[in-house]
Amino acid sequence: MQPPQFCPNSECKAHHEPPRSRWWVRDGFYSSTLHRRIQRFRCNLCGRGFSTQTFDIDYYAKRRVNYPRLVGLVGSCCGVRQMARYLGVGYETIGNKIMRFSRQALAVQTAVMDGLSMREDVCADGLQSYWISQYVPNNITVLAGSCSRFIYAATGSSLRRAGRMSAAQKLQRAVLERTFRADPKALTHAFAEICDVVCRAVEPSARRLTVLDTDEHTAYRRAVSSHGPWYQLSSAGRVVHRQTASALPRTAANPLAAINTIDRQIRIDLAEHVRETVRFARNPNRSMERFWVWCFHYNYHKRYRINQPTADATLHYQAAEITKQRVHTAQKDIWRSRRFRTRTALFGSHLVLWLRMLERPFSRGSDYLPGYLAA
Ligand SMILES: [Zn+2]
Repeated sequence: MQPPQFCPNSECKAHHEPPRSRWWVRDGFYSSTLHRRIQRFRCNLCGRGFSTQTFDIDYYAKRRVNYPRLVGLVGSCCGVRQMARYLGVGYETIGNKIMRFSRQALAVQTAVMDGLSMREDVCADGLQSYWISQYVPNNITVLAGSCSRFIYAATGSSLRRAGRMSAAQKLQRAVLERTFRADPKALTHAFAEICDVVCRAVEPSARRLTVLDTDEHTAYRRAVSSHGPWYQLSSAGRVVHRQTASALPRTAANPLAAINTIDRQIRIDLAEHVRETVRFARNPNRSMERFWVWCFHYNYHKRYRINQPTADATLHYQAAEITKQRVHTAQKDIWRSRRFRTRTALFGSHLVLWLRMLERPFSRGSDYLPGYLAA
């Protein structure tokens, strides 16, 4: 039996930096539906009781699923009901397991990005689908490596339905907007976070100049022009924002080639982003959870080029020159050992999603979040 690595109580000194001396004692056993004998412990510092289960990804769960298989299914254009059927569990169990694993994925991404220095140019763009109904278009803004196609950041937001609509549709929109109206600056805010990520990674980097490529969307320009750290780096000539017309042919020479490829890949892999799909997302938080589960597989387990010779098994993170050591540390025991919010340096949209605080159009109250995931 593994001794506990830290106290689960986030208020306790042994949560972040457990003392060298023994801070815990054994405190008997109990049994559950999944296990016959579970070791209990007690913290000498704060008195909190816990068990080996507290540190398990399936803490509080009555069933286990094969997580690697689940992750594979999420990225195989499989709907939630199909996954449930295939894995022989209920619909709610799949939702619960994706909810759990998406936090593991966020923790890995956060750890990999923490203190990372940029080794390539980057590009960003928004992938547009809808959730809840066609009246709520969404946008997932993705930042990726121009060479590696590694996904450095992604943030999801609800938008206002625009474009051509019949008189009846306009009326319907007006009715719905009495309950919910998307933030008109949502895209600018999302792009400001993309700028945060670029700046943090460019700062420690040895590169002289890093280019951020996007299309000509005005929200991007607006975000860049009012971003403090970006202004400083760009005055020093270390970053530049280059805009390319989206009408330009989508060839390999297009500066947005990498992000266009990712856009296509997401639409191939994730059921809810397939064009004209009947499997759109019902809940923004759950939708982004599936995105991050997909992204975990894409960044750290999927080969960089699909048609590369089998001997060349370069993964996306390796193409981005991120070290194996960094990734191994970040995803140590990822299939079993539960990541704690209070021990993960989450920022911006990662924290929002972890707490399931993405706004839910037309719904009152906050989204359901079990207490053990808030911890
Ligand atoms: Zn404690």
